[in-house]
Amino acid sequence: MSIKYEIQVYNTLTDKKEKFEPLNSPFVGMYVCGPTVYSDVHLGNCRTFTSFDVIYRYLLFLGYKVRYIRNITDVGHLVDDADAGEDKIAKKAKLENLEPMEVVQRYTNGFHDVMKQLNNLTPSIEPTATGHIIEQIAMVKSLITKGLAYETNGSVYFDVLKYNEIKGDYGKLSGRVLEDLYANTRDLDGQNEKRNSLDFALWKKAMPEHIMRWTSPWGDGFPGWHIECSVMSSKYLGEQFDIHCGGMDLKFPHHECEIAQSTATFDKSPVKYWFHTNMLTINGARMGKSKGNSILPAELFSGNHTLLTRPYSPMVLRFMMLQTHYRSTMDLSNEALLASAKGYNKLLNTSIILQKLTQSELGILNEKLDLEINSFIEKAFEGLNDDFNTGITISHLFNVSKSINAFYNRQADVNTISKQTFDNLKTNYELLFTTILGLKNESDLAFSGLATDILQIYKMAKDEKQYDKVDVIRTMFKSRGLVIKDMKTGVDWGFEE
Ligand code: AMP
Ligand code: ZN
Repeated sequence: MSIKYEIQVYNTLTDKKEKFEPLNSPFVGMYVCGPTVYSDVHLGNCRTFTSFDVIYRYLLFLGYKVRYIRNITDVGHLVDDADAGEDKIAKKAKLENLEPMEVVQRYTNGFHDVMKQLNNLTPSIEPTATGHIIEQIAMVKSLITKGLAYETNGSVYFDVLKYNEIKGDYGKLSGRVLEDLYANTRDLDGQNEKRNSLDFALWKKAMPEHIMRWTSPWGDGFPGWHIECSVMSSKYLGEQFDIHCGGMDLKFPHHECEIAQSTATFDKSPVKYWFHTNMLTINGARMGKSKGNSILPAELFSGNHTLLTRPYSPMVLRFMMLQTHYRSTMDLSNEALLASAKGYNKLLNTSIILQKLTQSELGILNEKLDLEINSFIEKAFEGLNDDFNTGITISHLFNVSKSINAFYNRQADVNTISKQTFDNLKTNYELLFTTILGLKNESDLAFSGLATDILQIYKMAKDEKQYDKVDVIRTMFKSRGLVIKDMKTGVDWGFEE
């Protein structure tokens, strides 16, 4: 299998852009930290998962055979990141008087629904933390045997200082220095069990009232938050794999601890490339479940939120997210959504026009236009090759869209570009819009068919100068977000831009 292009990717671990060279090409192992399923995913979570969906799609397009793992955290993520407080899922179960697994199922289903609405592809495997308790216990045991973890009072902690004496790389991913970390660790509940405040839990003893519990060599308990990802990534992708993804907020402590656990277990650095998404913000503040500023996908799709003046569809949300590079912050506002709705409709209309457009004959070659169109397409791919910069890709699709519209309106003659360029345009626009960016027409065929039929009535009314009927049909279209286009070549309808 041949790989199409060379790509450069930004690696958080080295803080550099690097040529992407998988460990065992054409195979690529990709692990994404999935949601903690104790509440509905918000738009910030959606941004992260959608960014990685495009990376997955692009790697597939390039010809890589990707095994894409995205886990479900259904135990072990405590309310406080520093091993204190209740388990998020157990807490929710208590509040709602449900079985913890009912909470897990409810929000896993909700997560899947949203991923589908956003047209995100399903991962190759979606393992759960509770489905891998045996493997987690085995890894904790091995860390104790190696002398890098210790038991205190039924809980097991990772010995950060000892690990760092041997490997010297703790803090490498997040750029933290041990001394600074010391200064910032608070004296939290359970901290007295640790030899050092920097140590983190691999296994926690379950108090009598704790419902989510498993038998272990250290008594009844449950796994720490970080160990699940070391276990599931190595189980399905091997001791060393290509790509590990997550939001920036996971760099520390989650990913730093994961590196330490895996390196200590397998004696090798687990991941070649670390990709981290930047945060979706509202008025500059990170959107977060615990921050009380989160907007849910359902609120956006129904328009039922004080920030919004109207509903926005899943594809408008997807389009808005992809207009910004995944490593830049993105501020959500009604204005930004309005602009994205227009932009998405423009590119969607262009995609529909392109499907109808044909070349009838070859005219006199307009070399400049021909070159320009090829160059826009090339640049659209170059955007993706440069650390998956979908914003650049979309800007070149807008450039291409101008030419396509000019051809369709007969302001420019499509026959003046070569057949090769025309075919290139058709194939690649569709590839970029649908296969790689994952955008699609949300209205169904019956709707489009009906609109086209009504357009015939519109045309007849116009020919017969029945302007009151013409106006009624125009208003009907407008109320559904559609416009009627009267062109030299005839009439057509499109989505309002
Ligand atoms: P959680 O369920 O909280 O573990 O989050 C699931 C994923 O969403 C993680 O990769 C987080 O880093 C990511 N995430 C959380 N908040 C945001 C945000 N405001 N913007 C982008 N990604 C986020
Ligand atoms: Zn993880």
